[in-house]
Formats: sequence, C-alpha cells, structure tokens
Amino acid sequence: MDPGLDKRRFGHRARLALTPAQVRLIDDQAHAGRALWNLLHAWWTMLPTCRRSLAAADAAIRQARQDIGWLAVLPAQAAQAVLKTYLQAWKNCWQGRAEAPAFKGRLRSVMAVDIPQGRDLHVTRTHRRWGMVNIAKVGRVRFRWTKDLPVGKKADAGNRITGARLVKDALGWHIAFRIQTIAPKPEPHQGPDIGIDAGVAVPLALSDGNHHTHERWKATKDKPNAWLTEREQATLLAWERRAAHRKSLRKPGERTSRRLRATYDQIASLRARAKRRAIDWQHQTTTEIARTYGVIVVEDLPITNMTKSAKGTVENPGTNVAQKTGLNRSISQEAWGRTVTMLTYKAARYGGALHKVAAAGTSLRCSACGFTTPGSRESQAVFVCKNPGCGWFGNADHNAARNILHLYRMGLALVPAAGRAVVRRARRVKPATAR
Ligand SMILES: [Zn+2]
Repeated sequence: MDPGLDKRRFGHRARLALTPAQVRLIDDQAHAGRALWNLLHAWWTMLPTCRRSLAAADAAIRQARQDIGWLAVLPAQAAQAVLKTYLQAWKNCWQGRAEAPAFKGRLRSVMAVDIPQGRDLHVTRTHRRWGMVNIAKVGRVRFRWTKDLPVGKKADAGNRITGARLVKDALGWHIAFRIQTIAPKPEPHQGPDIGIDAGVAVPLALSDGNHHTHERWKATKDKPNAWLTEREQATLLAWERRAAHRKSLRKPGERTSRRLRATYDQIASLRARAKRRAIDWQHQTTTEIARTYGVIVVEDLPITNMTKSAKGTVENPGTNVAQKTGLNRSISQEAWGRTVTMLTYKAARYGGALHKVAAAGTSLRCSACGFTTPGSRESQAVFVCKNPGCGWFGNADHNAARNILHLYRMGLALVPAAGRAVVRRARRVKPATAR
C-alpha cells in the first residue's frame, strides 16, 4: 500500500425497518445462534483437551444443523460466525483479556446474528433516506440511510463493506456494517497541546481553562440520571416500582410473566434513550476537541471494575469507597472510557494524537509551583495552594488538567502495552539545521 494512504476500519449502525413477521424470523435466528453457542460450549468443555480442535467443532456444528431441525433456521454463514466468535472468546481468555466463555442466558445476553461476508449483503441506495440490504432467510429489507456507504460505483478493493452484524436493542433490530476505507493520511495536526481531566464539578475540564458541560442535562437530588427529563425520571420510577411489585408477587421457580417482561422492556427503552443522549453529547464534544487540539493528554485510569473491588465484601467493607472508585467525578467510569476511545480514533483521523499519563496525585499537586502541600485542595471544586511562596488558587479540575499536560510535557507519557492498539504521534519534521 502507498505509504501516504491510511487504511481505516470502522463500524456504522443503521436502524432496520422490518415487518412483525421479519422481526420474528430474525428473533428465531438469534435464538438459534445463542442455542448453538450453548451446545458448542457444552460439547467443548466436555471433550478431552487433546480432542478439541477447529475441525472437530466445525464437523460437530454441521452434524447438529442436520440433526436438530430448529437449528437450520440459522444461516450456515452465521453458524460459522458463532464458532469463530466462540474460539476467539477462548483466545481472549488465554491471553488474559477476558474471562472464560460461558453459557448465554435468554434474558441476559444481547440478541445478535452475524453476516460475515460483505458480498452477501448487496447493499443499494433506493432513496435519499433509505437503503436496501439482503439478509439470509429473511429477504430484502430496508434500513435508514444516514451515512454514505461504499457501495455500487463507490465500492472497490480498498473501499467496501466487509460484513455486518444484526443487533437488537431497546429500539428493535439494527444492522452494524463493518466498513473498510483507504484514504490519504491526514496532515499532522498543528493545533496546541491540551490536558483533559474527568472533573468533579464539570464532566471534562481542559488545561487551557475551557471546559465542556452538559448544562441542559443535569443530575439533581430528585433526578439521579442526568440524561432524563424530570417527567421521564418520574415515569421510570413508576415503572421500576411496578416491576418490583410484580416481581414480589412471583412465586419461587415461577417463570417471568408476560406483563413483567413488558415492564422490563419499558424500563430498558427509557434507559436506552438516556444512554443515546449521553453518547450523542460525547460524540459532539470529542469531535470538537479532536478538531481543535493537536495533542490530547488524559489520565490513564485503570479499566478494572473499581466499584466492585473498593466496595469490599459484606464482612469486610471498603473505606472511602467514593474516592477510590472515582464515583465523585461527574462523569462515570464507563462514560470516561468511552470518551477516551472516541478521542483516540478521532484524534488519529484529524492528524493529532492522544497520550496517557499516570493518574496518581494529579488532583493534589499545585500546577503553578509544582508542590503537593497538605490541605491545598480546599473542597471538591476549589484549589488554593498552601505553599507559602505560591498561593495560586483556581478551579480544582482545571488544576488537575494542567498537571496532566505538565506530565506529558516532562516526557512522562505512558508507553502502551505490547499487543494493544497503538496510536502513534505524527513525526515532526526536524528543522534543516538539526538534520
Ligand atoms: Zn503552588
């Protein structure tokens, strides 16, 4: 490939417009896929280690599709994809990235069907706002066209759809396309450096004194979920009470009633709406940051489940849980992780780069004199330096963001661990005298 070109792989999610009959067909495929996963897991874990192999698993799946009638509703390609995902799950476990694969429960797992071959999709655009796609054993269905996809004359060896996955969420079935493009590398971003802290008073505090908040969406005492209106919060509470009441009437061992499941669906749809609002805000904010700044520096927060470990156990509860888990930050762990992911790929797209620095002490050190003096952080929001020669005061979140940028400028950016995605900083051309 030309060194001036950049291969990019990304996903694009679109909503499918399905008839109730088509929804049932895809539901059945997803249930069959989950059942196949469970059969495969039972078979694999039962087998002696020496006889576990891809070929044996493949043969077993072919046999099962012949013997078990209802497994045949799942297209052969999707069944192969289940096997591939299952083996990948074991690889992720062996390499320490994930827990061992387990059985998938009916209500706990996400419903999904894979379409591994892009050429089976035959995507066409039929209207300004609609496209059509082939789904095996369902037929041709419409989807919302919200992004220019590389199809028809725009598709070639470099720019194409390589596959897709059908995923069901609270809004119904969606199709997530896997897209590959080859485009010229972006020019190195000449914008300024910036440090970003997930703040206490503001979600994102920037080292240059700016910050990003979502003023319209705020959590209050009566409204713990920032991304819902007061009315939606009241509705959610009513539904949650109803669900709890119905659950209390259920006898042990009795199946979840249709009514209770309907209430669960209503709760899930409202929570999904809140999450979509949050993600929308994150997308807008991170795009603006990636456009404005060349080098973005953030704290490297551990991605383990800190809430769980800090809480301790019933016999041995943890202390200072809120401080240890970062729960006193106005942006949650999950949201912060998503922000960093978005900043990483968006910075790369605009020719910039994202760097991480160690998080320890950034909120306690004075960014003006560099000393950590006890009691300087007067409250969650205010920082007043107690060093007699300094006395700098300001917003505690901005102070932390300035410290983060300082660590990067001192050359203390963390080197990503081997094997993980590495975003390289665009190499600055050395001046002629230095060469
Ligand atoms: Zn100071």
